[in-house]
Amino acid sequence: MTARTRADLESLPRYVPGRSIPGAVKLGSNEVSAGPLPSVVAAIRDAAAGANRYPDNGAAALVDRLAAQLDMPPSQLAVGAGSVALCQQLVQATCTPTDEVLFAWRSFEAYPIITQIAGARQRTVPLRSDHTHDLAGMLDAITPATRLIFVCNPNNPTGTTVQCDELVAFLNAVPDGVLVALDEAYHEFVTDPAVPDGMELYRQRDNVGVLRTFSKAYGLAGLRVGYCAAPQPVVTALRKVSVPFSVNSLAQAAALASLDVEDEMLARCRSVAAERDRVRSELITLGYLVPPAQGNFVWLPLGEQTTAFNKHCLEHKVVIRPFSTDGARITIGDPTENEAFLTAARTWPPRYGDISG
Ligand SMILES: *Cc1c(COP(=O)(O)O)cnc(C)c1O
Repeated sequence: MTARTRADLESLPRYVPGRSIPGAVKLGSNEVSAGPLPSVVAAIRDAAAGANRYPDNGAAALVDRLAAQLDMPPSQLAVGAGSVALCQQLVQATCTPTDEVLFAWRSFEAYPIITQIAGARQRTVPLRSDHTHDLAGMLDAITPATRLIFVCNPNNPTGTTVQCDELVAFLNAVPDGVLVALDEAYHEFVTDPAVPDGMELYRQRDNVGVLRTFSKAYGLAGLRVGYCAAPQPVVTALRKVSVPFSVNSLAQAAALASLDVEDEMLARCRSVAAERDRVRSELITLGYLVPPAQGNFVWLPLGEQTTAFNKHCLEHKVVIRPFSTDGARITIGDPTENEAFLTAARTWPPRYGDISG
């Protein structure tokens, strides 16, 4: 007698987490290098003493706080165990097995996985040659079955952005009955004024949801908490499909404490953005092609050389994130970590005689 699991899971793409190698610089997971501020650590420690109790299921204090800060009703905000959980809930809340999720490719590698787990169909539109979203192509790819469209802005892993005017034109042209989810996991690192604030677009329409996370800018990746602003019926559906108590009490306390020190967190993001611009121009000087980068990472479209470049970086004790034969994503760390990566980048490709590579 054997147990039977879903046969279709055989073909599920695997989510590849960034590697952790002892002694190596970790630039593979788009984390921030600096740990939580002392006041946040203290809030987590305080919350730990109450860990015998279930968390507040609806994370009401956090939802109310975010709602007040964003000036929107709490009924239009859902929190989740990381915004990737909310991405999954969005698919579950909008799609049945005959419905379709549309997104660009390459984009966030969780999109195809969560779509398939939910049993929905996926449709992808290749990025343009400059590694940006092809919004016109995405409009053409909409079918009567399309229920949800992810637009990742800035895009993971390419770091490129969708500009305000083209996004507004796209949102205006998307047919009724389709939700556009603006995944803004890296919004706090954006310095280009032409990149829209999804929250503003969300306020002006009924077909937009915005995803944000405490994992990146707020440095809480290990605690898993994110949020989604969306029209009230969508938020109601998100809550229905969520796993009970999925946002734990330490995460809720840490997120609240982080909002208390938001100015300091955003100042950190500006330093990371400055480092990003420095690393990018250095790489360009070295002869690399680097698309404009607005997240806390840069993208090197190395094609077939990606695997060898990754190996070269590992030999220099720098963990980056290779994506098959497309390219490599390198997270911006602190200046010392970035220097370790640039040292590796300077010695690529290895020349004859450089035995160590
Ligand atoms: C990191 C990331 C997220 C969310 O991460 P969580 O840790 O689950 O909040 C969502 N979207 C994109 C594109 C990301 O890169």
